[in-house]
Amino acid sequence: MSKVKKKVKVIKIDLDKCNGCRACEVACSAFHAKPKYSSNNPARSRIRLIRDPLRDVYLPVYAGEYTKAECSGRDKYVIDGKEYSECDFCRASCPSRDVFKEPDSGLPLKCDMCEDDPPQEKPLCVQWCLNDALTYEEKEEEVEEEVKLEDVEVGLESLVDKYGLDKVMDTVARISKKD
Ligand code: SF4
Ligand code: SF4
Repeated sequence: MSKVKKKVKVIKIDLDKCNGCRACEVACSAFHAKPKYSSNNPARSRIRLIRDPLRDVYLPVYAGEYTKAECSGRDKYVIDGKEYSECDFCRASCPSRDVFKEPDSGLPLKCDMCEDDPPQEKPLCVQWCLNDALTYEEKEEEVEEEVKLEDVEVGLESLVDKYGLDKVMDTVARISKKD
């Protein structure tokens, strides 16, 4: 398989600079509202704040891959004397918790780096983080060339989990008969 250059977008998180203001959640949820900017329900945000002011814990976490199964074992992290609970650093939309699920449909959410229409030059959460806890950079990596249907597959998989294969197949058949 031949190698191709791929642009990789990275958001760096500096926990020491995060004060838990939640501006990132507001910006992301407004960008992904339908119609755009019509609401700012944090449940729609692809970045969520794990926030515990009494323990000085402010942890922004980005929505990553969908998983249909809970982990059978879990990890705890202690960083600078602060203990984080088992799922705090996890980016998955998972059946054991409510985060990273679209509030209307229940479908899994994943950070799209604000590439939704119109694509943003810089992720909105980074733009709105006035404390510079989030910073953005781009780099190039060499990867194997492949056809990527990942996002379509994840969406279909979660629809099958939610509604069952027969219902999804019926709907696809019905749609394909239109036109
Ligand atoms: S990069 Fe965009 S989509 Fe991802 S969390 Fe930030 S605002 Fe949301
Ligand atoms: S906008 Fe920045 S400082 Fe505010 S909660 Fe988000 S990451 Fe933390």
